Amino acid sequence: MQILTEPRAMQQLCQSLRCQGADLGFVPTMGALHAGHLALCHRAREENPQFVASIFVNPTQFGASEDLSRYPRSLETDLELLREAGCDAVFTPDARAMYGDTDLLHGTWVDVAPFNEMWEGVTRPGHLRGVATVVAKLFNLISPSRAYFGEKDFQQLHVVQALTRDLNFPIEIVGVETVREPDGLALSSRNAYLNEQQRRAASAIYRAMRAGVEAARGGETDVAALGRTMNAVLEAEPLIQPQYVAVVDAENLTALQQLDGRAARILISAHLGKTRLIDNMAL
Ligand code: AMP
Repeated sequence: MQILTEPRAMQQLCQSLRCQGADLGFVPTMGALHAGHLALCHRAREENPQFVASIFVNPTQFGASEDLSRYPRSLETDLELLREAGCDAVFTPDARAMYGDTDLLHGTWVDVAPFNEMWEGVTRPGHLRGVATVVAKLFNLISPSRAYFGEKDFQQLHVVQALTRDLNFPIEIVGVETVREPDGLALSSRNAYLNEQQRRAASAIYRAMRAGVEAARGGETDVAALGRTMNAVLEAEPLIQPQYVAVVDAENLTALQQLDGRAARILISAHLGKTRLIDNMAL
């Protein structure tokens, strides 16, 4: 497995991999790898003769008061996991390699409307712009045939699909189902911030979504009633502070008032202490 830190070297390597005519899979990550990331890697391994991954804690997707400096980093373990997953090359640039030495050197941003004005776009201003911009840069450097993203970050997946369509990247975007702990908590690098009590309480996010799904299966179509059902589960855990609990159209992420047969998705964001978790589930 090759490990590259310079964008130009990564671009040349990927060009030569694709010159051989073969499909190339790509798994972008911020490191601190867990079984969720590895599910993306296994899928990439199965569907492409070669796949590459990136590990880059992208500063432009963190707000000023967010956790950029304390975001978990475990490069050596990550590289070992990627090697075991059959990864052919890993791109691990630093911020200077991706954005230059000063802000003046980087002035091009990708804003994906209208997703940047809803849910995560509102609660984390600038976050989705940072994600869209770094994904576009990585797509240009790597030119994969297929790129793999988790459904765990449902809005991010929509942003990536939209920018791929809008900017005509010849890349197939593959969404991969969320990998969960036995109690339902979605795996996330940020789970490492939770203390023991918060970790126990965090499973209420999954239980709330399940309660929403069960109520809908039982015939409830009123989204306000579904919201009350889910909020009741969350409120039973004093350590959780919900930020939004929404039922949205799964295609365009607009809030629904009624379930009417269209594919719908529950979106939840909640704080446990300073840690912010997001999750989602099909309705
Ligand atoms: P991150 O390192 O958090 O930026 O995540 C890198 C990729 O892994 C993104 O496409 C995430 O959606 C995906 N991912 C993160 N957690 C999970 C999970 N529990 N199951 C599946 N995919 C995940």
